[in-house]
Amino acid sequence: MDRFAWAVEKGNEGLWDWDLQTGRIHFSPRWRALLGGEGSCGNTPEEWFGRIPPGEREAVRSAVDARLGEDCAKFELEHRMLHADGSCRRMSCVGVITRDPAGRAVRIAGAHADITAAGAVDPLTGLANRPFFLDRVARSLESSRRNPDFVFALLLLAVDRQDAPGSPPEAGGELAVAAARRLETRMKTGYRKASSGRDHALAHAGAGEFLVLLEGLGGADEAQAVADRLVGEMAEPFRIGDREIFAAVGAGIAVSASGYGNAQDMVRDADTALHRARSLGGGRAEFFDTAALDAARRERALESDLRRALGTGELRVAYQPIVDLESCRTAGFEALLRWRHPERGEVSPAEFIPVAERTGLIVPMGLGVLREACRQVKAWRHGLPQCGDLWVSVNLSPVQFKGERLVREVGDILRAEEYESGSLVLEITESGMMENNQAAVRLLMQLRVMGVRVAIDDFGTGYSSLSHLCRFPLDYLKIDHSFVRGIETGKEALEVVRTVSELAGRLGLGVIAEGIETPGQLGRVRSRGCRVGPAGLCSRPVAGARAPALLDG
Ligand code: C2E
Ligand code: MG
Ligand code: MG
Repeated sequence: MDRFAWAVEKGNEGLWDWDLQTGRIHFSPRWRALLGGEGSCGNTPEEWFGRIPPGEREAVRSAVDARLGEDCAKFELEHRMLHADGSCRRMSCVGVITRDPAGRAVRIAGAHADITAAGAVDPLTGLANRPFFLDRVARSLESSRRNPDFVFALLLLAVDRQDAPGSPPEAGGELAVAAARRLETRMKTGYRKASSGRDHALAHAGAGEFLVLLEGLGGADEAQAVADRLVGEMAEPFRIGDREIFAAVGAGIAVSASGYGNAQDMVRDADTALHRARSLGGGRAEFFDTAALDAARRERALESDLRRALGTGELRVAYQPIVDLESCRTAGFEALLRWRHPERGEVSPAEFIPVAERTGLIVPMGLGVLREACRQVKAWRHGLPQCGDLWVSVNLSPVQFKGERLVREVGDILRAEEYESGSLVLEITESGMMENNQAAVRLLMQLRVMGVRVAIDDFGTGYSSLSHLCRFPLDYLKIDHSFVRGIETGKEALEVVRTVSELAGRLGLGVIAEGIETPGQLGRVRSRGCRVGPAGLCSRPVAGARAPALLDG
């Protein structure tokens, strides 16, 4: 609560202590002074609630009651109060609830702070103003960056007066004031804290446009539902004095899931969406980017399917042969995850791996691949005499690199499967290493100490520098297949392959060229000094059961 902190700093806050069993509430002298009172005042809640403008009083009372009934320890509210000088002050209120062992609220210790002068209030409506609101959105963006599950939306709601022919012009923004009051009440009752992190904020952006922040959403479609409801509620006629005033209402929505860098961009997109809502005829709420909403929905569906798939046989490991280009024998395999979705059929790893990474599912999935690959390759090594030195390469996601658990978990699997650590290669992409620079070096060192080898995957597509290559403990560079694909036609691609091979040789690293598909590519890669390369030429990744056939030769 920045405004509260501001008020405390300025000495603008007064304390109270409310014994809920006796109903008595003690107000500090500073609390009384804040509202222009002197000496003592009564000790009933009426001293507080009686000073709230009548239109707002019940909403505040029921918001407090609701918090007492919920299982929460603290609440924060904003409401207006009448000062002894007749002015209306904007107050921020925090309360800390004490509960008995049965969970019943017995006492609240709290404070009110006068935030009217915080430079945050729109003088016409008494709502927050635009700069203050943008600060608040910036903090929400910060939270969503730290926690991707924290989704929030920004609505820009336009309430445009629709004058009947011949009606008198509006005086003093009375529609904006009435709309502000209605918006406040509807949000207070209609967007309750169902869980922690769920909150809202309002501001008047000027000219009958309101900004609404919805925090702690379950997803983008919940923002649509709230916006649709608000548009309907705000379109009901307003009674101002003895007149009934109608308004045309529309809303634009921007959601944090689109990865905004700053609050202004979000408001800009909500404005674009509002423009579309208006041009489509009003009375509606539009998303800035419906494609983004669809993508968010698809991703959620994919996530829940993936969770379910973890416990079924839908996820399998396929084996991509890695062929020694000198002997033309299969030297090892890269284990690659495959997902056969019951309705959609095969889903590409390029689609489901990023979802698994965002949701953390990649951690159990990655360990599952490692376990399965060790088991399978060990069986081949034992069962096929010509495969005694076969190795397996398993992809590691940057997400798996984030914790300290990785080394222990790899060690546990190697021990449980009785798999020799020297016959395991772990692949990590350049960007994965760069993201967690220090931690990555430490983890790779520990893996190397265990005897595991390390490859840098998709080399040439990320940002690697020579200093990184020297510093990271590595065994192989895998040249990305985009270069291999181009070597028959493009001179540059051929040069990249040649340079990387030479560089690797000087650093004492092996080279693996990904995705060799044609004899021409094979010849050229071989002439550039790559010793091993996945033989797309001989075979695309195959199911475990079919792999031994590739080992016979
Ligand atoms: P990657 O690790 O670079 O894997 C190589 C990709 O190139 C695989 O695609 C493989 O099927 C494909 N490939 C190999 N040889 C050829 C070829 O000759 N021609 C063509 N056109 N493609 C070839 P895939 O299986 O679709 O995997 C894509 C990416 O998904 C992988 O790239 C890897 O980053 C990720 N991935 C797959 N399985 C796992 C896994 O178990 N864990 C993690 N963390 N990532 C995985
Ligand atoms: Mg790989
Ligand atoms: Mg690769």
